[in-house]
Amino acid sequence: MDKETQARFKTLLLGRLDELYEEAEKTVAGMTDSEDTFPDPTDRATLESDRNFMLRIRDRERKLILKIREALQRIEDGTFGICESCGDDITVDRLEARPVTTQCIECKRRQEAGERARGS
Ligand SMILES: [Zn+2]
Repeated sequence: MDKETQARFKTLLLGRLDELYEEAEKTVAGMTDSEDTFPDPTDRATLESDRNFMLRIRDRERKLILKIREALQRIEDGTFGICESCGDDITVDRLEARPVTTQCIECKRRQEAGERARGS
């Protein structure tokens, strides 16, 4: 992968990271708000399910943030865009659709086929 393409993905990933941090902050702010807004015990069930929902979102965001950081690290290391399973280049099309991916489409398909075969 040439330097220009790498720089383009770095900008893209940093942009996504910014968005995620903003979302995560909103989630945290939302949790604090709902606690203040619904102190009535009859609203507790709703509040609890809301909180579970928020926690799930945050977990998902946290995982994505980690994946993006890893992708940025791979750009620094010069291994970005290289399949971790077979060592081939991952196509730029695939990286544009999913910049945090660590596998080429063939390896990903093989892995998913294997998972289905094991019934998980
Ligand atoms: Zn591969």
